[in-house]
Amino acid sequence: MTLGTPEAPLRVAIVGSGPSGFYAAEALFKSDHTIHIDMYEKLPVPFGLVRSGVAPDHPKIKNVTRIYDKIAANDGFHFMGNVTIGEDISVSDLREHYHAVLFASGASSDRRLNIPGEDLERSYTATEFVAWYNGHPEYRDRVFDLSRENAVIIGQGNVAVDVCRILSKSVEELKATDIADHALEALAESKIKNIYMIGRRGPAQAAFTPQEAKELGELDLTEVVIDPADLELSEADEAELEMNPAKRKNVVMMRDLLAKSQAGEFANKPRKLHLMFFQSPVALEGDNGSVERVVLERNALSGEAGQQRARGTGEKTTLDSGIFFRSVGYRGLPMQGVPFRDDWGVFHNDGGRIETGMYTAGWIKRGPSGIIGTNKPCSYDTVKMLLEDVDQLQCAVADTAPLRARLEEKGVRVVSYADWKKIDEAEIAAGAAKGKSRSKFTRVEDMLAVLA
Ligand code: NAP
Repeated sequence: MTLGTPEAPLRVAIVGSGPSGFYAAEALFKSDHTIHIDMYEKLPVPFGLVRSGVAPDHPKIKNVTRIYDKIAANDGFHFMGNVTIGEDISVSDLREHYHAVLFASGASSDRRLNIPGEDLERSYTATEFVAWYNGHPEYRDRVFDLSRENAVIIGQGNVAVDVCRILSKSVEELKATDIADHALEALAESKIKNIYMIGRRGPAQAAFTPQEAKELGELDLTEVVIDPADLELSEADEAELEMNPAKRKNVVMMRDLLAKSQAGEFANKPRKLHLMFFQSPVALEGDNGSVERVVLERNALSGEAGQQRARGTGEKTTLDSGIFFRSVGYRGLPMQGVPFRDDWGVFHNDGGRIETGMYTAGWIKRGPSGIIGTNKPCSYDTVKMLLEDVDQLQCAVADTAPLRARLEEKGVRVVSYADWKKIDEAEIAAGAAKGKSRSKFTRVEDMLAVLA
């Protein structure tokens, strides 16, 4: 029987309900085939990093979920929330019940610095802090001690900027957002006065994007501090800016921030956000098991324009830092039954194909880079490969019912998209009562209680 017809729909399990999962579903529905998709998600709620990663003070970025709602409205789409692949159902179960399995499970862990003292108390990861302030249930009970005056953030990507902004903002600036209630309460008690965002390279290489840099000049409580000497660029830096207009805009933004600071526009702001460059942490030190200081080594850049690398000069300084975050990138986690590349933290794949019948898209395919929209072409490329294989795809049991029965036996409450919409409405209503755009449920049992 020809696959992908109304008599024999192409059955695809998508694992993960973030942007790459939804764009993969969209690409499949746009094909000429009749498609049945079951989208598996560990949480009862969809959208991956759009819900748990995008900063609460960036609500417009979250409007992308309207597109995902439209994709979910296709007849062949079925959300299977609250089901953990690898625990409730195995990868081989999926292989048995679907013609193709497409992993879009993202990168839920993070890269380490591998320096002494990294595991001291009050040494945190940006990824867990982001998940905590966004109300991810697995991070709900994390405690971040914000009682110290100096906080250091290593890395200068957009995640580092998000963390710095959330630490820099007043409760007034955050209270109407969908920030988790527990995070707002903790941030209201924060004693942080100095935030150091530290890059191993220079301003011309900073990984954040110009819009994010611009916002740093618009904080109610916080002055941005930059050493003017850092903004004197080398010939290689100038050549890099020629090649990369976004990096040039970043430098323009930073010069603008410096000029504002020098003109006294930030005067009297009680918090300082120090943008520091050419420094790498080489050790964290502390007494009684908690971070007190970070030892930094000055770097010099070497290499051709576009490929300049930081190398330690041996010149060391110590910075008081009672709170420390590393923000040097997310990292994918392995899943039983799927070949994993430990060096990159991604599933082994060739352009999205793991093997015939198994595919991957998004950060677990290509690593943790790019904005939400980057996932669309990534997922479309993967789906193109999947459809090229369609004549070779097979499944033993072309039916979800046995899997649903097994989940029911195990007591797993499968959450449908209609169920999610009820949770969504309840969160929005609870938010309205508090003057917030949404008040998120941060415990799985509270999400499921809406459906009881
Ligand atoms: P990222 O953009 O890759 O930035 C990682 C940062 O860590 C870079 O500054 C990098 O410096 C630094 N780094 C890496 N290893 C290091 C080490 N061993 N020591 C010191 N520094 C180190 O990653 P991200 O910030 O996690 O963001 C992930 C993706 O999500 C990015 O594409 C980002 O743009 C996107 N995102 C977008 C938004 C938004 O659109 N608003 C918000 C959040 C995230 P080098 O450059 O020297 O490697």
